[in-house]
Amino acid sequence: MQLPASLLDSLEGLPGYDRSLFEAAHTTTESITSIRINPAKSVPLPYIMESVPWTTTGHYVSPRPSFTFDPFFHGGAYYVQEASSMLLEQAFLQTGFSNQAIRALDLCAAPGGKSTHLLSLLGSNSLLVANEVIRTRSGLLRDNIIKWAANNVVVTQNDPIQFERLPDYFDWITLDAPCSGSGLFRKDHTVAEAWTLSQVNHCALRQQRILHSAWKALKPGGILFYSTCSFSPEENEDIVGWLIKEYGAIFQSIQLDPSWGIVESTNGYRCWPHRVKGEGFFFSSLRKPDSTATINQYVRVTKSKPINISSRYPSIADWINLDEMDVMEIGDELMVFPKVLQTDWLTIQQSLHPIYLGTLLGRWMHNKLIPAHALALSTRLSPEVTQLSLDYRQSIAYLQRKDLNITFTAKGWVVANYQGLSLGWLNVLSGRANNYYPKGLRILKEHL
Ligand code: SAM
Repeated sequence: MQLPASLLDSLEGLPGYDRSLFEAAHTTTESITSIRINPAKSVPLPYIMESVPWTTTGHYVSPRPSFTFDPFFHGGAYYVQEASSMLLEQAFLQTGFSNQAIRALDLCAAPGGKSTHLLSLLGSNSLLVANEVIRTRSGLLRDNIIKWAANNVVVTQNDPIQFERLPDYFDWITLDAPCSGSGLFRKDHTVAEAWTLSQVNHCALRQQRILHSAWKALKPGGILFYSTCSFSPEENEDIVGWLIKEYGAIFQSIQLDPSWGIVESTNGYRCWPHRVKGEGFFFSSLRKPDSTATINQYVRVTKSKPINISSRYPSIADWINLDEMDVMEIGDELMVFPKVLQTDWLTIQQSLHPIYLGTLLGRWMHNKLIPAHALALSTRLSPEVTQLSLDYRQSIAYLQRKDLNITFTAKGWVVANYQGLSLGWLNVLSGRANNYYPKGLRILKEHL
């Protein structure tokens, strides 16, 4: 791979940069694979793993397994994520927010690495709004959120500017900005071929625009976590410097173990591939100065409000544990969402474009409630639901949405599981099981 000379030149003088080591790190054929385990779903993973030292749930896996043919991957037991990105955990834990009820926003969230990570760190009374502006990518984000099985989350599809409708609202904002992507050259050589300095400048302008809106939505005293997977100072130190100068942002220092190899630079931290077991990453934690500003009081227009589902569907308790939860009806869909977050839901639904809320319970079809895939994967699934344990081969066939050649004695809705991890629904009618694994999620490849 040919590294762009103008990029290499622009990195000279940055703390921790060494041109020859940096270039050598880009010639290595060793690829680093890491996953983050979902603490809500404990299963025995069959991989050889070494901890990612700055996390409680991150692990390097070697050799790289075939995730496509791993039922644990599809059931949401873990998320495949680049290790440097997991440094969000240090920044978050060091704010002390994990023990408080807060409102968090992940503004550029697809495909969902940092959102699922945040969901594992937030308390259950905290809210996460996971947003992605690009429609196709917002669907991917929703699917990954569903696999993670948290309830305290709303997925939105909005342009960052629309978050200005919620001034001073969020205690924490993750802004993992769209960038020129040089930090991922090792993973994708085509990014290196397409890299130009004008693209870096274009990204920097876009980052400023997004930050301007994010800053308005951040509560005084709140924290903005800014990150990119670019090496370019124009997208990193320069952007943070601009935010400090123009908006009075206050840089937050983060304690990092020196053995991890992360380097402090101007108003941020850098992961260099020749120093860290991970890809290129820049991050910075910034506090908005306290002021007397308060949250705007909104006139609440109720589009959807809690309904009494038990009166309409008495056997619902056989499907889901509704403790501390409200059931919301939106069109023909039923969603489950924590009672304590109802006020936020009322605010969000009138200000933003939500595409998913809490956990989808099911859909009414011809007066029948069809259980949703999200419910099968949810940790709130009732133990009363009949489970059918599949072996590995049957699980893969199920995930390919094939017919399972098994004789069933159970009747009605049954959850297929692999080694105790729910994979999705089957509907058994006179001994024949209809496979309800979502079409859009099915494994398209035949097993190797
Ligand atoms: N945070 C994600 C994760 O950890 O999985 C990765 C986010 S990626 C670096 C940046 C995201 O910003 C992409 O999903 C991209 O679609 C989105 N994006 C692109 N243009 C944008 C814009 N103008 N405003 C906001 N987000 C944008």
